[in-house]
Amino acid sequence: MPGRFHLYPFKAGETVHLKKVHPCGGHLWLIERAGSDVALRCLTCGHRIVMPRQKLEKSIQQVIQRDQTEQPRQIRS
Ligand SMILES: [Zn+2]
Repeated sequence: MPGRFHLYPFKAGETVHLKKVHPCGGHLWLIERAGSDVALRCLTCGHRIVMPRQKLEKSIQQVIQRDQTEQPRQIRS
């Protein structure tokens, strides 16, 4: 059904949880660049992919907002 998916305003720096698991076992991806195509980096293995925004919207299980994924900063040694 065309038009069924609402356009989620992806932003670089957000983390998304995809339905499909990457061969490395990871399912969390960092959005590096958002446009009509979206560049994603696998947070587990570092692999980078680019996919059309519409395809990404169908593949997403959950969008994890940046503030929920931000790790506590490492203490400089
Ligand atoms: Zn991976």
